[in-house]
Amino acid sequence: MLMSKAVLIDTTKCIGCRACQVACKSWNDLKGERTVFSETWSNPRFLSSNEYNRIIFREIDRPDGQVSWHFISRRCMHCNDPACASVCPVGALEKMKEGPVVYDDGKCIGCRYCMMACPFQIPKFEWGSAVPLIRKCTFCAERQALGLAPSCVTTCPTGTLLFGERPQLLKEAYRRIGSEPKKYYPQVYGEKTAGGTSTLYLTAVSLEDLGLTRVGFRTDLGDVPQGIYGRAWMSKVPFVAVAVGGLCVGLHYLHKRRAEIKAEERKEG
Ligand code: SF4
Ligand code: SF4
Repeated sequence: MLMSKAVLIDTTKCIGCRACQVACKSWNDLKGERTVFSETWSNPRFLSSNEYNRIIFREIDRPDGQVSWHFISRRCMHCNDPACASVCPVGALEKMKEGPVVYDDGKCIGCRYCMMACPFQIPKFEWGSAVPLIRKCTFCAERQALGLAPSCVTTCPTGTLLFGERPQLLKEAYRRIGSEPKKYYPQVYGEKTAGGTSTLYLTAVSLEDLGLTRVGFRTDLGDVPQGIYGRAWMSKVPFVAVAVGGLCVGLHYLHKRRAEIKAEERKEG
């Protein structure tokens, strides 16, 4: 039986070198952008249609008066039951049995329902393009099809990113927690979050203490697969309404874009 693949991100190993950011841009042929540091030294400050992966920097005050640095990769969670795919009226987004949630440019009608549905605020729109499309991490599905690991995984010099079958990675994550309980927060983010995801995280402290819940790492979703809500909503909306609604939403978004960018910059960091 084919097992779904996942990536285990052990943030306690990350040194913040951003090699994975560069590898991601290089493999996906993403444009270089003028970016700025956030107040916590993250750069870029937020994901975009040209940034599928970014390292969030966090400095935490420790009880002994010292500070500790934490570096956390932010990217698509590749949900087991993705909300983005559940609301796409033309099936442009799809969860593959191998793990990645992939996107088909040719099917997309630009309604941007996936952007609104994703609880992790991952899909980004190519606002500057004449024929704008949705962009996000693909989990290097095309590399996986060739038997290769994602480009970020092959580049990481510290072994922060472990690629493999999801059940094996969960086993490994709990082995690490069990063998070094003082080093790890005793929870694997993504194991059950939103019904489970193919992006899994180990952290030294809670996501709340890392200040990650305000930048898209949701801890309020419980174990409920998010696709349930999308399918329930879509079953009540006829296709024409979706298309017209998408156009209206699109116009609304275009007018609001400048304010939105500023809001994103304030929110992420
Ligand atoms: S994180 Fe968002 S974009 Fe990624 S698979 Fe889940 S719902 Fe889709
Ligand atoms: S390449 Fe590895 S160590 Fe460097 S920032 Fe990415 S995850 Fe961290």
